[in-house]
Amino acid sequence: MDCLFCKIVAGEIPSHKVYEDEFVYAFLDIFPCSEGHTIVLPKKHFDRFTDMEGKDASALFTSVNKISKVLENTLKLEGMNVGINNGEIAGQTVPHVHVHIIPRRAGDGEGNMHTIVELNPSTDNLPELAKTISKSFD
Ligand code: 5GP
Ligand code: ZN
Repeated sequence: MDCLFCKIVAGEIPSHKVYEDEFVYAFLDIFPCSEGHTIVLPKKHFDRFTDMEGKDASALFTSVNKISKVLENTLKLEGMNVGINNGEIAGQTVPHVHVHIIPRRAGDGEGNMHTIVELNPSTDNLPELAKTISKSFD
């Protein structure tokens, strides 16, 4: 498969690896948003997060949790943003699921999850919306 991140996992394209286990491969982003910006991906190819089964997502996030703690301790971070651009519409540019860990530092002056999209829609329909979504789990 012609996938950039599969090639990185296979070692066909070089990367600055920080961690690897049976399920995931983690490396430094080549265009970091902040120092230490790390990408964690499942070794098995999935285009999108919503293509993954629960067990694969669990394995991915168990490793993301471990790597986040190591980054926090090693780089002496006060915090970080952890997230996924799921789908092109959400800004995903490489179609192989990956989690961004973006270190945050005092005074960096940047935003948070609330600043990715700021449409601030009406909340009048929250009861209806919650019902529609929750019914879909049945
Ligand atoms: P996305 O926009 O799909 O959520 O994230 C893709 C990320 O991969 C971007 O942050 C981009 O900087 C990073 N990236 C793209 N190509 C390469 C590469 O060849 N090597 C590394 N280390 N990172 C890459
Ligand atoms: Zn891939």
